[in-house]
Amino acid sequence: MSIRQSGASVQLQDIRKQYGDVVAVENVTLDIKAGEFVTLLGASGSGKTTLLRMIAGFLTPDSGRIAVDDVDLTDVPVHKRHIGMVFQNYALFPHMNVYKNVMFPLARQKFPKEERDGLVRKALAAVHLTGFEDRKPKELSGGQQQRVALARAIVTQPRVLLMDEPLGALDRRLRESLQVEIRRLSSELGVTVINVTHDQEEALTMSDRIALLADGKLVQLGTPTELFDQPNSELTARFLGDSNLFRGVPVESGSSTEILLPDGVVKVPGGAAVGEECLVMVRPSRARVAPANGDLAPGLSFVKARVAAVVYAGENRRVVLTRSDGTEVSAVFDAQTPTEVHVGDEARLVWAPRDSTLVSESAAMDEESELASGGR
Ligand code: ADP
Ligand code: MG
Repeated sequence: MSIRQSGASVQLQDIRKQYGDVVAVENVTLDIKAGEFVTLLGASGSGKTTLLRMIAGFLTPDSGRIAVDDVDLTDVPVHKRHIGMVFQNYALFPHMNVYKNVMFPLARQKFPKEERDGLVRKALAAVHLTGFEDRKPKELSGGQQQRVALARAIVTQPRVLLMDEPLGALDRRLRESLQVEIRRLSSELGVTVINVTHDQEEALTMSDRIALLADGKLVQLGTPTELFDQPNSELTARFLGDSNLFRGVPVESGSSTEILLPDGVVKVPGGAAVGEECLVMVRPSRARVAPANGDLAPGLSFVKARVAAVVYAGENRRVVLTRSDGTEVSAVFDAQTPTEVHVGDEARLVWAPRDSTLVSESAAMDEESELASGGR
């Protein structure tokens, strides 16, 4: 592809934005590398759009610094930032055909007239829409419209591409194929992408790194596998994938360290300090369901619970169990595996020591203890 360009790095330093009493973005610091694909992931209202709009220049931070390739953007207006943006609702001009929609930013940014046609054609080719130049937006499917929006965002060859839930309005199959296509396009272009979504699967599939936001704060930043396998908080453990979580104070027991629960025993992985409260996670895919009585191999973790539902989902089957304190735990296994338990059965959720993950909450705890000691 001949429109390869090099992406820029993006520096966000201590960014804050408040609306009345609502702190939409609270002191977010984030360094994005050139060419990186970073996803801002978070529930609705976590501050993703606000942060993106500040990078684009539609909003001004109350405090903090935004820079691209270490050049401060504070006084650079939107159209001079060389940043492309794709919105969820496409925002195409309904009365203009595809060609004119994609041409629009070139005219606005006063690109030399003789270059414009070539750039439009390259952008349309990149999103596989050559031949659709004369169509109006209403003559296109949702996926095609979103590809026009993408072509319009890359036609000026921006060094940073911002996308705010670009696939949110599309059905699942189309979303998945566009995820692959956007990822391919962004690597081919070499452009830096900051993508916003509330969809954990989209974040896990597409990103080099994920920045998980909650209530305007950056909770955890890392690669998809880091966030999935080493969550730093209950929030991350719950947001990315399903998790069974057990909180307690580990005690020494023979050669192992374990949390004694009223209804079970959780073997605690290395790193947990005896006598200090900790959080242990086991993914449903790593757990299985065993009968309530009978021998268990020594060294396994288990909790007793009653089977509340057995849910078939094509490829796999999920068994949901309710513990006596009302909390739910679950196990997921291949649908080919016969189900030995039925709704209403007393059973045990069982897993091996290596399948327990210690959720390292040190960062959050440090903050708490600092607050407790009066702060600094
Ligand atoms: P997200 O994109 O993650 O859903 P937003 O950035 O849109 O979140 O919003 C973050 C918080 O800021 C929310 O509590 C939202 O209600 C609030 N907010 C966003 N925009 C405005 C605004 N223009 N005026 C007042 N509050 C706003
Ligand atoms: Mg939003």
